[in-house]
Parts: sequence; structure tokens; C-alpha cells
Amino acid sequence: SKQSNATKVLMLPWLAQGHITPFLELAKKLSTKDFHIYLCSTPIILTSIQNRITKTQSLSIQLVPLHLPPTSPELPPHHHTTNGLPPHLLPTLMNAFDSASPDFSKLLQTLRPDLVIYDFLQPWAPTIASEYNIPAVEFITTGAAVVSFFSFLAFKKPDVELPFPELQPLLGSFRNAQPNRPVDDGTDGKPTPMLECMKKSSKMILFNTFRELEGKYLDYLPISIEKKIVPIGPLVHETDHHEENKDSAIMQWLGTKDELSTVFVSFGSESFLSKEEREEIANGLELSGVNFIWVVRFPVEERTEVEEALPVGFLERIGQRGLVIDGWAPQAQILAHSSTCGFVSHCGWNSVLESLKFGVPIIAMPMKHDQPISGKVVEDVGVGVEVKRDENRKLNRENIAQVIRKVVKDESGVQVRTKARELSEIIRIKGEKAIDGVVQEFMQLCNRGKTI
Ligand code: UDP
Repeated sequence: SKQSNATKVLMLPWLAQGHITPFLELAKKLSTKDFHIYLCSTPIILTSIQNRITKTQSLSIQLVPLHLPPTSPELPPHHHTTNGLPPHLLPTLMNAFDSASPDFSKLLQTLRPDLVIYDFLQPWAPTIASEYNIPAVEFITTGAAVVSFFSFLAFKKPDVELPFPELQPLLGSFRNAQPNRPVDDGTDGKPTPMLECMKKSSKMILFNTFRELEGKYLDYLPISIEKKIVPIGPLVHETDHHEENKDSAIMQWLGTKDELSTVFVSFGSESFLSKEEREEIANGLELSGVNFIWVVRFPVEERTEVEEALPVGFLERIGQRGLVIDGWAPQAQILAHSSTCGFVSHCGWNSVLESLKFGVPIIAMPMKHDQPISGKVVEDVGVGVEVKRDENRKLNRENIAQVIRKVVKDESGVQVRTKARELSEIIRIKGEKAIDGVVQEFMQLCNRGKTI
């Protein structure tokens, strides 16, 4: 059968929406190149992506449930279906995920894959793989700038400067951040899970990025990491017809708007705005005079009606100019739509890549984690403009309105719009080439040595 001749790859993404998507897209690509994929995650996450695999792909992508022992720390419900996550998400998730390692070991024993592809915070995965003599390659779903930045902090010699001036302003805030974060700078001498994962990868590390976007960071990485760095992106959420009908009310609304008239406003699956931020953004959108779709999300404990969360009379004043959505929107479809002219984004890496794929310039409003770094990359490459915060990290409505207008309509934003279009053209032309390269690498690693 097809399965028994194919190279078998077991994939283990981190338990978050923003990580499942690039892993699933990589799985889809590999499944068309004579690989059989076991995509391994918790049952609740697997159920949520089931309808994203079409019939033909499902022949060679097998969803494999990973079971956490009943005593493991409770996992937050899947992001799609909730409007909130517990605080301290990262440690909670890490502990829960760690406790799945015995089941992971059993899966390797049963399925005997030729290769494991794992994510950024589970060093136990490559360790277990090596016990079975299976090569394990890390796939980092964030950008190379982020990893360059953290490696610099971790491996830095006192007299060496960060070679990226655009990231310099961020050094202070990351150095002063609380210790013991899984991705912190390792100054306490202990390797962080993030660095350990990179060290344990077989020969190479894959990145969801591409050279025209992050060339200089990709070149910087081997100095500190000593692995072959392989950019295989952008791997972004590909929609199919099955999904497209689900959210048709939103798409119909967008369809009534003029070409290049509407901004999409969303801050990802894990970020929530403070009341103050919500207020400034609402007023900024109103002042900008530009149409918008705004996805508003609340943590569970702040659950409220959308109307109550917005400035008094906001929805009436906005009328048909804006659509406020509570919860979840079909982001990739919206960005692909011809009415969309800009993306007010927290700069989660998937959001950045999706925006560039469709040539949509970015109004960058980074919040936390790696987002401030990605915001600088966006601005440095010239595909977006960051909304600056004041010295207390506060947003300002006039400022928001001004940056939106610059990026989507003012003369001063022509270059940004052009650059975003250029990158989408590059992505289109590149097509499958990045994946073809990695297929050869995988074959050598698995000792299969056959040519495709
Ligand atoms: N997403 C979506 N609808 C929403 C919010 C998010 O489809 O209302 C998708 C988005 O297209 C992206 C992912 O969820 O693929 C978010 O990943 P990203 O890395 O941008 O941000 P994170 O959620 O990790 O902060």
C-alpha cells in the first residue's frame, strides 16, 4: 500500500492554535510528496482541525490522539471554543504536555516513524526519539528574528553588540522581564527548554519564514546554534470550500464594501485588550474614517456583552461602516478578500505571514511574547508601521487613526503598500520550492537516500 512504502513522519506541535496551523500545513505539503504523516495532538485539538483536512489528504495524514494521564494538570479547553485561558498559560501547558511523554513513547514504539518533527518547548520529544534511534527535527513556527534575539541574550559575550539596530530598543525590557520563563535568556546558567530543543534537533532546524523577509536573521542563527537553518515558509492557513461557507455572514458584509476599503482588526487567539486599550482602539477606528471588521475577545472572567465593552453609542455611530465580532473570525478568508486594505494586528507570527501572503500591509500593535520583535521586523522590512505607545505603554487614539490612514490611504504610505504587494508576489512565485528542498534533507536524514 501507499502507506507502507512512504516515509513515515510523526509530528508533535505545541498545544496552541498558532502552532497547529503551520504543522498542519507542513503535513499537507509533505503528504503530497510520498510521506505518510501521523499528526499527533490531544483529542480536543484534533477534533478542531478535522474539517481542515480534505478527503485526498486524509489518505496520508493520520490524526493520532496523544493522551495525557488523568492526573496531569488540567489543560485549558481549545482556544477556538472558549473566550479565555487561565493565567500563566505557558507553565500550565508545559506541565500538562510534559506528562504526555510516556504516551508519546508508546506511540513511537507502535508506529515506528522514520522521522519525528517537534515544536519549540518539548525537549523530551527528541530525547525519547533518540532512544528509538529515530531522527528528530525541530520546526520553529515563529520567525528567525525572535530566535536570533533570544539566542543573542543567551549566548552573548559582554563586548558583543546585537547586530540588528531595529531590535536594540527591545533589549532592556526583555532583560528585565521576570526570570524562569521558558524562553528567557538563560542567564542563570541553566539551558532553557527553548534552547535545549534547538540543541537536540538532528542536524537542522526548520523555520516558518522565508529569506526575503528574514534573510539577515537566518544568516545570524548558525553562529550561535550550529545547526543548518532551513526556512520552509511561509506555511499559512489554506482555506477550502468546506470552511468558506461557515462564516458567510461576515464575508457577505465584506462583499458589500468597496475594493481596498476595509481594515481587519484582530489580536490573535491569546491576547486580550484591557478596557483602556479597547477604548482607544474603538475611538481610533472611529477617527480613522476607514471601514473595519474588529474581532473583540474577552477572558472568561470578564465575559460581557460586546455593546457594554465598547464606548457608549459606538455601534450606532459606526453603523454600516464597521462590523464588531465577538470571538472568532475567518481571518485568512478576510485577508484574502479584495475589500481588505490593511490589518491592525498584534503581530502574532501566523498573522504576519497570512497578511503578507495576501499582500495586506500591517498596522502593528504588538502586545506580548515575541510580538514586539515581529512588530520591528514588519517595520524594518517595510510592510507595515507600528503604532507607538507612550512611556507607560499606553495607546493613543489619534495616533492609531493616523497610522491606519497612513498605511491604507495616505500618500506617505505608498511604499508600505507597494512592499506588501511585492512580498505577496514573491511568495506566490516561490510556491512549493521551499518544501522540495526539505524533502531531500528528510530523505537523507532517514537514510532512505532515494531521489524524488
Ligand atoms: N485566527 C483566526 N480568527 C481569529 C483569530 C485568529 O482565524 O479570530 C487565526 C489566525 O488566522 C492565525 C491564528 O489564529 O492563523 C493566530 O496565530 P498568531 O500566530 O497570529 O497569533 P496567536 O494566536 O498565536 O497570538
